Amino acid sequence: MPQRILLGDEAVALAAVHAGISTAYAYPGTPSTEILEYLLEHKEREGGPHAAWCANEKTAYEEALGTCFAGRRSIVCMKHVGLNVAADPFVNSALVSMHGGLVVAVADDPGMHSSQNEQDSRWYADFARIPCLEPATQQEAYDMTREAYDVSERFGLPVMLRLVTRLSHSRTNVQVGEMRGENELQKAPKADTWVLLPGNARRQWSSLVARQKDVLAWSEASRWNLLNLRPGRTLGVITTGIARNYYRENIGAMKEAPSHLHIGTYPIPEAHVRALAAHCDEILVLEDGYPYVERMMRGILPGKTKIMGRMSGELPPTGELSPEIVRAALGLPALPVLDLDGLLLPNRPPQLCQGCPHGHSYNALKEALEGFGATMVTADIGCYTLGALPPYSSIESCVCMGASIGMAKGAAEAGFEHVVAVIGDGTFLHSGTASLADAAAADTPMTVLILDNQATAMTGVQDPLIASSRLQAIVLGVGVKPEHFHIVDAHPRKVHETAAVLRKEMEHRGLSVVIAVRECKVAHAKHARIPEAVGS
Ligand code: SF4
Repeated sequence: MPQRILLGDEAVALAAVHAGISTAYAYPGTPSTEILEYLLEHKEREGGPHAAWCANEKTAYEEALGTCFAGRRSIVCMKHVGLNVAADPFVNSALVSMHGGLVVAVADDPGMHSSQNEQDSRWYADFARIPCLEPATQQEAYDMTREAYDVSERFGLPVMLRLVTRLSHSRTNVQVGEMRGENELQKAPKADTWVLLPGNARRQWSSLVARQKDVLAWSEASRWNLLNLRPGRTLGVITTGIARNYYRENIGAMKEAPSHLHIGTYPIPEAHVRALAAHCDEILVLEDGYPYVERMMRGILPGKTKIMGRMSGELPPTGELSPEIVRAALGLPALPVLDLDGLLLPNRPPQLCQGCPHGHSYNALKEALEGFGATMVTADIGCYTLGALPPYSSIESCVCMGASIGMAKGAAEAGFEHVVAVIGDGTFLHSGTASLADAAAADTPMTVLILDNQATAMTGVQDPLIASSRLQAIVLGVGVKPEHFHIVDAHPRKVHETAAVLRKEMEHRGLSVVIAVRECKVAHAKHARIPEAVGS
């Protein structure tokens, strides 16, 4: 079989192509972005399958679901917090009868390298009652993705592929298989299985619950779960995903290897867990993310088995696992480390690129805020979140995509005067427009500053979904008064002019919107094909 050197994300993408997908949809978000990037390049080179960035994860999910409604295979990709945005169609799609396979590739970010939290998507798969596969290697990422389509069509359910940053963003040899053709276009054999009116939904929900025993049987029989019982061992170890690699890295240092269960599929293969528990007095659970298996086990096993992991303190309760952490949990002495005393580098927090247009907008905002006394600036997710750090120190919140406008509205309605919401053009389209409609309906006294850099810069400078000129129509279309709507140039020579516009609108006791336009420097270089370093 041919081999390719692939990132974990790329292995998923190529496997989806080889599994015969017709479409792929995503919203960019680290560490999942490279899946669709690869599929876009593949489409460019080979003419298909169809692949596209979407306005947000919910629209991406619904578009993928539409492909499956038409009987064909699709993949939808997002980072873990993106699944919160797509949660409505995601959970409900478990109740329809999927006849075209759907794989939901979700990349978690334990350790929060580029995220607001380290939520574990396995809980979501459990909540929606769908199968989940968790690869430990790039090869497994490829093989599991292919298999996930068959599992999806066998059970009529979406299947989650749970990735983590270290797997998504590391590269190795992967053996790849043959290309499978697309499914025939075909409507659902029973149309009412897709119409979730209460009568149908109750029937579909009962059917989903009834299928759980078959899904569990599939998981327990799966080749991705490996149980190795060693005679006479009192310690058992359970690994999931890439924690197996950390375990293997240390196992040679142990006097005798413990009994071992590796879990690669969910629902948790309970029979294997019980077999391990019957064999051992103590079980150490090594899993990246939440203590998902550990917590479940506390409900599955009799009290005599000692369970160790994140909940009981043998592993840290937060953050990524590492070979060193696993080594300590196995009771092994720490390996010698290089003494770096006196060689420590100064802390270098991330910064906006030199000449970034957001910097000019923040200088204008700071100037506008001066003299107002009590002010409040909510903000959102993108390169511009770095405005929270010196030298700008201009923004005071970043909670989730699109929260800036709604939070500003709530703060203004609570009585805070001079409230500004800062949001990027991509984030505004992702999930800011509905909040702006709320604010326009109430004519809330607040100012929305849309930083339009004509790119989704932070995730690798993806092109905007719509041109800048069309943002204006959206803002006016939701009811913002034209006399309180301005477009300014985010140029260093226009800082004072922009500050004056912002200041005047902050004095207005109603809603105002200012769009500061200037292309991201890196996007500009990309379009001009001039090499330039990405600054954040
Ligand atoms: S990538 Fe673009 S938007 Fe982000 S900091 Fe650099 S210039 Fe600014």
